[in-house]
Amino acid sequence: MSAVMVDVHGVHKNFGPLQVLRGVDLTVRAGEVTVVLGPSGSGKSTLLRTINHLEKVDRGWISIDGELIGYRRSGNKLHELKEKDVLKQRTHIGFVFQNFNLFPHLTVLENLVEAPVSALRRPRRDAEETARRLLERVGLADKTGAYPRQLSGGQQQRVAIARALALEPKVLLFDEPTSALDPELVGEVLDVIKDLARTGTTMIVVTHEIGFAREVADTVVFMDGGVVVEQGPPSAVLDAPRHERTRAFLSKVL
Ligand code: ADP
Ligand code: MG
Repeated sequence: MSAVMVDVHGVHKNFGPLQVLRGVDLTVRAGEVTVVLGPSGSGKSTLLRTINHLEKVDRGWISIDGELIGYRRSGNKLHELKEKDVLKQRTHIGFVFQNFNLFPHLTVLENLVEAPVSALRRPRRDAEETARRLLERVGLADKTGAYPRQLSGGQQQRVAIARALALEPKVLLFDEPTSALDPELVGEVLDVIKDLARTGTTMIVVTHEIGFAREVADTVVFMDGGVVVEQGPPSAVLDAPRHERTRAFLSKVL
């Protein structure tokens, strides 16, 4: 088995009185794809946001490639890292949002070049070369000079994926990457994610696309009420769920 890349350990997160994550454990090995399913409000987005420390955790910890995220340990205490160290850690964690979140005032190429140059101090020429290669990979080699508003939603999301890859992340997090797309554009985005899966990219994908989960996931995680209700290979969780809550959810989305 490959090494553990993402380790989520006993994570709790509250918003005021609301307990959104109530002790989540999750292990993702290098090169594996984990698909997270669950009803709206079950804590899926919050979980992804804690993994790159967009949200602090109230209890528990998260490590990526053996490195604690957002905190450093001294003795048995955890101290929050400085903003600049958090930002540095975040460069190892790609995040693809539902609504693409491209920089509207930058061309497609510049969207991919910006972070490697400013955050990783890559020479611009190298960053541009990488950007062109990645845009070719997601089928958008002819769109380097376009602005986001000139692209379809599916094309914008493929640019967003290429932009996340430009930082050579250790893990890619996707939060409902196809939910904002017209149905006929979903396939082209899922195909890009499938291609990444085949080439060993470590990914956590929150989605309601059950067919995609069945085809691509090594592990399917079902969340409800801020806990992982069950997890396992797609053949177990999707075809022979052990928990009533999983069955009830699947009967609604399948
Ligand atoms: P999911 O992605 O599974 O739909 P979320 O993680 O977005 O669920 O939200 C889980 C719960 O936490 C919801 O009840 C949501 O309203 C609440 N929540 C999420 N973010 C915040 C926030 N920043 N402040 C207060 N409540 C929040
Ligand atoms: Mg969500």
